[in-house]
Amino acid sequence: MTDCDVLVVGAGPAGSAAAAHAAEAGHEVLLIDSASFPRDKTCGDGLTPRAYHQLRRLGVADEIAGGYVNHGLKLHGFGGSVTAPWPEGHYGTVGSAMPRTLFDALLVRTAVARGATLWEDATAVSVERTADRVDAVTVRRGGVDTRVQARWIIVADGVRSTFGRLLGRQWHRGEVYGIAARSYCTTPHSREPWIHSHVELRDEDGAVQPGYGWIFPLGDGRVNLGAGALSTDARPAKVNTKKLLSHYAAQRREEWELGPETDVASALLPLGGAVSNVAGENWALIGDAAACVNPLNGEGIDYGLETAELVVDLLGTGPLTHAWPELLRDTYGEAFLLARTAARLLTYPRFLPLVGPLGLRGPVGARLMPAAARLMGNLIVDEDRDLIARAWRAAGGAVSRVRRDSPLWSATA
Ligand SMILES: Cc1cc2nc3c(=O)[nH]c(=O)nc-3n(C[C@H](O)[C@H](O)[C@H](O)COP(=O)(O)OP(=O)(O)OC[C@H]3O[C@@H](n4cnc5c(N)ncnc54)[C@H](O)[C@@H]3O)c2cc1C
Repeated sequence: MTDCDVLVVGAGPAGSAAAAHAAEAGHEVLLIDSASFPRDKTCGDGLTPRAYHQLRRLGVADEIAGGYVNHGLKLHGFGGSVTAPWPEGHYGTVGSAMPRTLFDALLVRTAVARGATLWEDATAVSVERTADRVDAVTVRRGGVDTRVQARWIIVADGVRSTFGRLLGRQWHRGEVYGIAARSYCTTPHSREPWIHSHVELRDEDGAVQPGYGWIFPLGDGRVNLGAGALSTDARPAKVNTKKLLSHYAAQRREEWELGPETDVASALLPLGGAVSNVAGENWALIGDAAACVNPLNGEGIDYGLETAELVVDLLGTGPLTHAWPELLRDTYGEAFLLARTAARLLTYPRFLPLVGPLGLRGPVGARLMPAAARLMGNLIVDEDRDLIARAWRAAGGAVSRVRRDSPLWSATA
């Protein structure tokens, strides 16, 4: 049997950051992961200014991607292209991208350097509970089970959240979710200082898909190239993402002088807080486990890092059962619900071909798209007083009122 103050299940960005913050706050921390590091994670590897901001707070920004940074987003499609620099403001104007194999290992090392104990190849397999309080967690390592007793359990076990499900976590797939595939390609343009997204994503038959293709330069002689689509149970994306990716790579090959796609892998993305049962008296779900992923662009590393810090600040203030979902709703609720509603519109086959040309061509696109990129990246904070920020907040408030019953970290399924 092992005792600790904080048990963190899962050592992706969310779990490692939580372990680092908790150790820094003076807690005795045990961080476990069923994999051993370095390990891969299917991802676009993109780090928005929001993520970069959190990495500065963790003190690791200088170690990201060998100093490679990007300045914003170039959006292409429907006969147009628009450049949207990362906006000035709270999060700063620096983004980057780093293969997850290296990025996650860096964060694990950071957690250990701050004082967390790390168990690799260690899976949380069962739980003992009294009502909504966790009394002990059984961790299986090398075929041996250890009973871990912790004052608090932070669950950061990713999109499928197998351990979270034991605690009652439920993912609502009636709400919009993502399916996406990524690959790595060599290129002489890997230090291109912009990330690129193609929103006119057509499959082999020429049909526009509700999603986008991306090329994220990594600064190391490669790009991360991928494609993703939005889906709901009612309108499932009828697309093979790996085929879509290879079709997209073929379209971009000449311009980027791309080598063949390697390490092709696909995964699901929960989006915008569409899960229930994310906390009990002494436990809380963070990161992908809590569906903290931006519905409009699929970024979740930043929210993983942020929810890590938020939950650690909450430890010791009282039961987490209601406090944690309330804090999530206060922090992200309106923005996520609004973005989820907009993403849902994109799953209607006629929507994107209708608005795409308006947004990306001519003078309207040039004015509209930098604002859209700011909204897509959720790079607006409460202190922002400009017209776009005010309009976004007003729309967020209106959607929240209309969609009051939509699952958003609800206490019950
Ligand atoms: C194709 C694709 C592209 C994406 N692109 C981007 C992007 O460019 N930028 C961005 O910000 N986000 C992107 N995302 C989202 C991003 O990958 C996730 O939001 C992010 O990985 C969430 O981090 P996490 O720590 O919550 O979970 P994870 O990174 O999934 O980590 C979970 C960890 O928990 C461990 N684990 C699971 N179960 C157990 C258990 N029972 N016991 C112990 N350990 C366990 C796993 O081994 C894993 O290491 C993308 C996602 C996909 C699928």
